[in-house]
Amino acid sequence: MIPFNKPYITGNENKYINDVISRGKISGNGFYTNKCQTFFREKYGFKHCLLTTSCTDALEMAAILIDIKYGDEVIMPSYTFVSTANAFVLRGAKIVFADSEKNCPNIDVQKIEALISNKTKAIVAVHYAGIACDMDNINLLAKKYNLFVIEDSAQAIDSFYNNKTLGSLGDIAAFSFHDTKNIISGEGGLLVVNNENFIKRSEIIWEKGTNRAEFFRGEVNKYGWVDVGSSFLPSELIAAFLFAQLENIDNIQAKRKHIWELYYNHLNPIQNANIIKLPEIPNYASNNAHMFYLICNTIDERNNLIKHLKNHDIYSVFHYLSLHKSEFYKNKHDNRELINSDNFENCLLRLPLYYELSDNEILKICNLIKEYFKI
Ligand SMILES: *Cc1c(COP(=O)(O)O)cnc(C)c1O
Repeated sequence: MIPFNKPYITGNENKYINDVISRGKISGNGFYTNKCQTFFREKYGFKHCLLTTSCTDALEMAAILIDIKYGDEVIMPSYTFVSTANAFVLRGAKIVFADSEKNCPNIDVQKIEALISNKTKAIVAVHYAGIACDMDNINLLAKKYNLFVIEDSAQAIDSFYNNKTLGSLGDIAAFSFHDTKNIISGEGGLLVVNNENFIKRSEIIWEKGTNRAEFFRGEVNKYGWVDVGSSFLPSELIAAFLFAQLENIDNIQAKRKHIWELYYNHLNPIQNANIIKLPEIPNYASNNAHMFYLICNTIDERNNLIKHLKNHDIYSVFHYLSLHKSEFYKNKHDNRELINSDNFENCLLRLPLYYELSDNEILKICNLIKEYFKI
């Protein structure tokens, strides 16, 4: 059986979790939280980092930080995870969904300007499959209309736009360590704050609306309730697990890139025969091998391929259902058709990609796909 995903345990997770237990401080913002945050700052040059319990929570923090109020509008792709939108809806925002590019699920930047109104407060760039959105042009629009840019970098760890780290290009970014992502802690996330104006408040929101973090650094002599907030920080057990993963990030990334390249090379003949499309990586983007997907011509072709692989005990999966057509949002959406988003909903297929997937297994999967398309 080849599952779609299998969490990879690097080896030191247990050791560091035991270390947390013997240190006797298990709640958040301790030794391992600090080690992880320092790792991210040093390796990727992020200005300010806070571990969170999920990417969803980091996005909710972003919505609080940019002070989303009832009626504010936020522009984002429809082809994304529920949390990208839900985080802003929780604070009363109206979501204005933009279509994806034709050949890539990322937001089509050409379509954004027409959607901006005097209520627009932010653009959310989702780096689908860890492949960068066109950030220079998104930031130009944001500057012109005085909007915030939030990067949903859930899938984009260790990925780059013109050699600049994804997560460092917007005002705020959110990463995920859910166990379907490249680097995992079961559930977990990271808030990156690049806009200096939000740094101080981010710590307060993180610690239930208190200035506890300042107190522990000895900057104030008592702590109390100073703002809104919630419990967004993970326990030290989660941070310890995450740190074991981070120590192995280069190894994990190298293996994932190897798998991705093998898939690409073996499936390219089917693309060359114009039967499927493989991911397109723009010149400005790097590939962090978060995901290997292919795009079929029709929904039936895609669904039958899923069945064909499943008959051989291989689990491939489709991905997002366009949010503008979701049960929750369809009546709130303004009727615009988003044809590229719908096309990815219908035709995109994700193949197994995890550290322990062997070259032979990849070959087997690719041969079955070739058999299906009679190539
Ligand atoms: C995984 C994912 C999320 C949610 O991450 P969690 O850590 O599970 O909250 C949000 N946005 C995108 C694009 C994702 O892929």
